[in-house]
Amino acid sequence: MRRSENILERIAKQGVVLGDGGYLIELERRGWVDSGSGREKVGTGKGSGQFTPEVAIENPEALRQLHREFLNSGSEVLQALTFFGTREKLNRAGYGEQTEAINSAAVRIAREVAGDDALVAGSVSRTQLFEREGRSAAGHVRALITEQVRLLTEAGVDFLILETFFHLEEMLIAIECGQVSKLPIVATMTFRPTLTQCSDGYSPAECAQRMVDAGAAVVGVNCEQEPDRILAITREMRKAVPVPIAAQPAAFRTTDKVPCFTKLPQFPDELESIQLPRSAFQRFAANAASEGVQFLGGCCGCNAAYIHALARGLLASGGIAQRDVS
Ligand SMILES: [Zn+2]
Repeated sequence: MRRSENILERIAKQGVVLGDGGYLIELERRGWVDSGSGREKVGTGKGSGQFTPEVAIENPEALRQLHREFLNSGSEVLQALTFFGTREKLNRAGYGEQTEAINSAAVRIAREVAGDDALVAGSVSRTQLFEREGRSAAGHVRALITEQVRLLTEAGVDFLILETFFHLEEMLIAIECGQVSKLPIVATMTFRPTLTQCSDGYSPAECAQRMVDAGAAVVGVNCEQEPDRILAITREMRKAVPVPIAAQPAAFRTTDKVPCFTKLPQFPDELESIQLPRSAFQRFAANAASEGVQFLGGCCGCNAAYIHALARGLLASGGIAQRDVS
């Protein structure tokens, strides 16, 4: 891959680009990330819990290894582990003073592994302040995301992935902050507690349209749902906007009553009992590609086996893969 080629050129050239999987939950399983479940009640929907990215400075080799595994499985994009890397969230976890160090180390590690074989995306997630404090947090959110976008840009990411936002209003702030970087923006909402509305009441089609209007180059959905439920959302987005659509589902089985895994009682300490098999991702890749999804990856629960399954699904569908993923 030529580094000079950006994510949009890559999508235009090959039709579908394969992303990577979920970092925090995989690294939590491996013993390097704190789920927060021993400290405060998680899964309350109030933005509690830990799951912060200090592993980038405390155990960089663990992070480097997971990047290598995704790359080896066919990922063409590596996300720097900067999820929940805004200063206030890191402060709550006891790492606020290391905000610069964590963000820059995460980008450096992803870049080292990516070399010329993958693009590096800076990950910017919701701050949790809209869930904790409501809309009055907007000004604070803007300051926090502005700072993180600056750190990621200075560290040299190729583009931004704004992901796992429950409130469209917070996402639109993030897109505005992201545009200062002049980098391409992939923006993916997360639907909770229903599939038909995000937390502040916008449908998938409305979210897609508003994100495009705000300047996102690729829009879509990530996390919370398994592939089949995610596809119901991308279908609505595909109809609403002409830009490439992104989908990064979780690998956990949800229910009609509770279609989001972080609201299930199994989160976070019994996730193994709702883990989906990787074959679901192989099928998903073929279906998503045939429905016009052009950026595919996995979110929580997806380790390298799931990315390999996506790559095989795309290969079988003729959707991708100049690299050897058989
Ligand atoms: Zn996730």
